[in-house]
Amino acid sequence: MSDRKVRVRFAPSPTGALHIGGVRTALYNYLFARQHGGDLVFRIEDTDSNRFVPGAEEYILESFKWLNIEFDEGVSFGGKYGPYRQSERRDIYKKYVDVLLERGKAYIAFDTPEELDKKRADIANFQYDASTREQMRNSLTLSKQEVEELIAKGEQYVVRFKIEPHEDVCVNDLIRGEVIINSSILDDKVLYKSADQLPTYHLANIVDDHLMEITHVIRGEEWLPSAPLHVLLYRAFDWEDTMPSFAHLPLLLKPEGNGKLSKRDGDRLGFPVFPLEWKDPKTGDVSSGFRESGYLPEAVINFLALLGWNPGNDQELLSMDELIQLFDLSKCSKSGAKFDFKKGIWFNHQYIQKKSNADLAKLFEPKLISQGVNAPLDKVERVVELMKERISFVDELWEAASFFFVAPESFDEKTAKKRWKEDSAKEMTELATLLEGLSDFSAANQEAVVMDWITQHDLKVGVVMNAFRLAVVGASKGPHMFDITEFLGKEETLQRLYKAIEVLG
Ligand code: GLU
Repeated sequence: MSDRKVRVRFAPSPTGALHIGGVRTALYNYLFARQHGGDLVFRIEDTDSNRFVPGAEEYILESFKWLNIEFDEGVSFGGKYGPYRQSERRDIYKKYVDVLLERGKAYIAFDTPEELDKKRADIANFQYDASTREQMRNSLTLSKQEVEELIAKGEQYVVRFKIEPHEDVCVNDLIRGEVIINSSILDDKVLYKSADQLPTYHLANIVDDHLMEITHVIRGEEWLPSAPLHVLLYRAFDWEDTMPSFAHLPLLLKPEGNGKLSKRDGDRLGFPVFPLEWKDPKTGDVSSGFRESGYLPEAVINFLALLGWNPGNDQELLSMDELIQLFDLSKCSKSGAKFDFKKGIWFNHQYIQKKSNADLAKLFEPKLISQGVNAPLDKVERVVELMKERISFVDELWEAASFFFVAPESFDEKTAKKRWKEDSAKEMTELATLLEGLSDFSAANQEAVVMDWITQHDLKVGVVMNAFRLAVVGASKGPHMFDITEFLGKEETLQRLYKAIEVLG
């Protein structure tokens, strides 16, 4: 077992947008595969046609492309274990269903939905299992001939797994340790349906993991209850030697910590729970995505990686390469991880600081263009440099920094009342004359000259600078004043000063 090449898979069902918990599952699989020089397979589990949602598969692929989670093989990537879409593997599953039937590990059941409903009404807590299967219409109670006749007549049937009761089934989970469940609580799960000639999730999942030589199944906690069933299936097939190791990841919890994170929490508190924006094809409802909300993919990766795992020290900023090096499945927590979306914002802030000014300028450019601003790239870079410390999202740049590109159209009333004093017009006129005379308009030179002038005329620095800022920015915000005026240049600075003097009087 240990000499097998590590192979893991991410196997979503295309039932809609990929929940952020699913993204974390894929990320952990990716980190594990890379760390062990193994393969990561992308399999689509689409055997439940009722739940199929068009566009979901494309959405999932686009999400991982954005996040830089790379697959080695699978749907859209190819590989020698294909096809990787379960709906294209019907013949394979049929073969394995027949194996179980031949071995007496499964049986054919003809009970109609009405018959099953009636049973449920008659017997409290009815479960189709060793205690009831003898009372049902199946290949255990009907003769071989009757079964053949029913099938020949075209009657629909399912194949059920024959679970032997009273057995402690042990699942050795890499995160949870030994989980023991008694087989009596399991029902004879449907493995195959003649109606659509497709297996159910349980059979397809096991057969594929086996055929695709998967060594580790890393998946969400919600699948833990089916793990004993999966162990029993491996046994029924005689595949125990190559049964993958299981790891069931902790749930993602609401930010408050009580209960599972849901889309509604995102709507309620204003954060996305999907990687990309998603438009439900049926209802037309649009759900926000991390990408469209302005998160950087690196930040999302770092944020998600630490939901349920940490490197054992307080290092929080970890690149993908560091994560690959440090990730340790056995150190994942058993208990759920609170989805602290404010931490997600913090990560985005951190990754914005790490990004180059040139990259940020490129991200900011579309917004500038949409606002009719056509500034040279080096100018945009300079603004980014001056402002990035103050933002957590590139989108916040416009609100914070538009005054670099467009002169204030009005002056914040409250600020004007407080900061435009009786002498302000006079002082700003003198200041304008002073600045006009400068041949060196660098921030340092302006500052030296202006401070000198303030001292000589016994003016108050705060009063002068507040009025100056109001005139140039239109409000009491922004970085160092002379960095702003150096950026604007003499002409623009003077124009803004004169306009303020005229308007504010
Ligand atoms: N198809 C399952 C899902 O939608 C995958 C479960 C597993 O990883 O085994 O999550």
